[in-house]
Amino acid sequence: MAALPYPESPVGDVPDLFQNENDALDKARAIYAAVNADAVEYRQSLGELIAHFERLMRETRRLIGRSDRAEREMQMLAQQLAHRATHDALTGVFNRSAVIERTIKALRANSAVMIVLDIDEFKRVNDEFGHPTGDTVILGIVDCLRRIVGERGMIGRVGGEEFTVLLPGHALADALQQAEKMREAIGNHVFAPPVNRRITASFGVSANPAGTDFDTAYGLADAALYRAKRGGRNRVEFAGQ
Ligand code: GH3
Ligand code: MG
Ligand code: MG
Repeated sequence: MAALPYPESPVGDVPDLFQNENDALDKARAIYAAVNADAVEYRQSLGELIAHFERLMRETRRLIGRSDRAEREMQMLAQQLAHRATHDALTGVFNRSAVIERTIKALRANSAVMIVLDIDEFKRVNDEFGHPTGDTVILGIVDCLRRIVGERGMIGRVGGEEFTVLLPGHALADALQQAEKMREAIGNHVFAPPVNRRITASFGVSANPAGTDFDTAYGLADAALYRAKRGGRNRVEFAGQ
């Protein structure tokens, strides 16, 4: 009789995951090979094969479902990792390395105004109200920035209490107006208790033609910020190129 198109059962000490199925298959093979097997034997063997086949299909469906779920979870984890690598954990705005990368990219294609702001006397906020409240102040300030910047620019946290706002393609006058709005919004913001007083921030602004490198754009804005601090804080200063 011709060889059957079935693989051999595993041999040796290797544990067989499909012991039951292989037993049923062996039995079916034997009956298939026996020229004079009767109808009852054929029927019984076929019935067993059907039962095993159905079980294997159910299991396969279950495993496919499980592997699809695992793949979706992996994709979500990969997205979360990518987000964490580029965003600040406290505020959700871009972190320092993402700010640098995106500023370089933006300035390659376009002019951009860079605003650097630093909370005024923030050390005192921590001293007066505690570090956790200091964190909520940072969150409140980022909220003020978000409301004003919207989709027009990119907010980043480049230091503990220092932020950048990049406005690609913005005219200087418009950007200065935006910075002034941010300064006012922060100064007028009423923070949740126990913060019982106003908190301000100082701003430095640089206008940068396309092709400016990050250090130049940031350095100029930072120098302007330094002047804003020296000039009494809670103000916007500009550094041109
Ligand atoms: P200036 O007006 O000159 O900027 O004064 P300042 O007190 O804001 O500046 P200084 O650099 O002396 O202090 C900054 C403080 O910010 C010190 C540090 O403990 C605090 N800080 C930095 N990162 C965080 C943070 O994530 N959370 C909190 N609560 N405080 C932070
Ligand atoms: Mg600072
Ligand atoms: Mg400060």
